[in-house]
Amino acid sequence: MSHTVILGPREHHAVRTLHDEHVPGFADRSYSGAHDLAIAKMKQHGMRVDVHESDAPIAARINDGSWLVDCGCRNAPLTSPAWGVAYCFGCGVRHTNVVFPDEHGAIASVLLERPRMENRNWFPGESVEDLRAQNRAHGVEE
Ligand SMILES: [Zn+2]
Repeated sequence: MSHTVILGPREHHAVRTLHDEHVPGFADRSYSGAHDLAIAKMKQHGMRVDVHESDAPIAARINDGSWLVDCGCRNAPLTSPAWGVAYCFGCGVRHTNVVFPDEHGAIASVLLERPRMENRNWFPGESVEDLRAQNRAHGVEE
């Protein structure tokens, strides 16, 4: 199935908000809450991970129709332009300074014209026109 948006933490982690809304029974429906819970479970299993923050700039890219970053631990945590953060479920880091291209909306629109999720990819430095040219070369309808 192809989605009609470029996916991020909301869709992949089934969370609704970035931070807890303190609604009883819904504390784990935020990205922060789900991350806290996952890292706590890893610690219970003896893994030496902690939730910690990094404000070092880290570039977002789009892979198979999802926004993500390349974490230093080799995991690829999800992000989104709306939230601007990426929480790593591998090493516990919370990247708080994810860098998106100014034209992220146009980039998403052009990629969403591609019917197959695995063809929705963007790397920093590729322009909207580059993506349009790729679409034309592959016969994607505008
Ligand atoms: Zn990581």
